[in-house]
Amino acid sequence: MSDCLFCKIIAGDIQSKKLYEDDEMFAFFDINPMAPVHFLVIPKKHINNLMELESDDTGLLGRMFFKAKELAAQQGCGKNGGRFVINAKSDGGQTVDHLHVHFLGGRIFDWPAG
Ligand code: 5GP
Ligand code: ZN
Repeated sequence: MSDCLFCKIIAGDIQSKKLYEDDEMFAFFDINPMAPVHFLVIPKKHINNLMELESDDTGLLGRMFFKAKELAAQQGCGKNGGRFVINAKSDGGQTVDHLHVHFLGGRIFDWPAG
């Protein structure tokens, strides 16, 4: 989608600190980290949010989470884990309308989240 921030990051029109890329996903560090390790995994296909995920995309989402846990381990969070988050639409606090999985690690998170 031409006016989407994350589509522009995938295209390289906006710079990011890239962690990983393959033919269907892209991972990069969050510009405003909320933890010592904070990166995002996004599909190259533009999907607005999790509420608009279609059944054909369930495999893709599974592979995104699998890659997120591999990258989290590479970033030193394999032993203690962390928080894997998808914010969806307004009540979820989503600010960028391109589906993304957050990984946050390197500190302890409370539950329930505020
Ligand atoms: P959301 O609030 O939609 O779940 O998360 C969007 C995330 O994207 C936020 O954590 C925000 O810091 C991050 N973000 C917004 N703009 C940029 C950008 O231009 N570059 C990078 N690397 N992250 C961004
Ligand atoms: Zn997009």
